[in-house]
Amino acid sequence: MSYDYKRLVEDIEKLSAKYPVIETKSIGMSVMKKPIYCLKIGDGERKLFLNGAHHGLEYLTSAFLMKFLFEFARAISGNCEFFGYDAKELGENVSLYIVPMVNPDGVDIAINGLDITNPYHQKLISSVGIHSFNKVWQSNARGVDINHNYNAGWRVVKTKPCESKYAGPYSESEPETKAMVDFIRKMDFDTLIAFHSQGKEIYYDFDGTVAENSRHLAEEMAKVSGYAVCVPTGSAAFGGCKDWFIKEFGKAGFTIEIGSGKNPLPIDMLSEIYNDNAKIILKAMEELYEKVH
Ligand SMILES: [Zn+2]
Repeated sequence: MSYDYKRLVEDIEKLSAKYPVIETKSIGMSVMKKPIYCLKIGDGERKLFLNGAHHGLEYLTSAFLMKFLFEFARAISGNCEFFGYDAKELGENVSLYIVPMVNPDGVDIAINGLDITNPYHQKLISSVGIHSFNKVWQSNARGVDINHNYNAGWRVVKTKPCESKYAGPYSESEPETKAMVDFIRKMDFDTLIAFHSQGKEIYYDFDGTVAENSRHLAEEMAKVSGYAVCVPTGSAAFGGCKDWFIKEFGKAGFTIEIGSGKNPLPIDMLSEIYNDNAKIILKAMEELYEKVH
């Protein structure tokens, strides 16, 4: 099973039918005019923002975030314990906002290949020079790597559109990046976690800037998940979502690299990934909960 945009939309419909407490809205459109969905659960004054699939091949992050939402909603509705936490009480103190698939076009290219209706079809084929777009595609539908397109140390890495690491003509040039930036500015989140794959790693700094307490929280997340706390180097070190969040607001932003192996990660890794990363999310929620009390 591959988790493409169609699958995501079906899951969102199922989830909101089953748990009306979940609110869904679109925060903007992708290059190919697909709505980029955000789901909200919980009503607390503190706000945690989670997002996945900035990169096409990393669609298991979307599958994971949707699974987390299903299970968390179930625990809240049933007033159940959730990994040792009181789900309902957490939800009353912390609001969770989730954009499970920031880059729906990229995911669809990685899974289904380049769509003939893509207006950049010819251009991408001539500049990328390959016809097998699936299995390599990380960028959006016009060959820009969204997680290098944020205004945080933005710079040219590659000079033309391609499957990975082309940062775009300028920062925030892409509709997906713009949708995220506008939404984040408006919402004033306390903490942000961007899920990528793979490596079982936790990143918490931007270019030497570390938000208050985020090193400590990264270590707590590492303890519950078995993941390693890391400081990025090279091309992973700028232009990303968490980089911009840390730079812009000085608040705790994290990149979590889920699972291990080669992208795309196999779906049978989902339950292990869920187990490790649900605890990471809950650790971040617990920290915000403690700020309320
Ligand atoms: Zn990534």
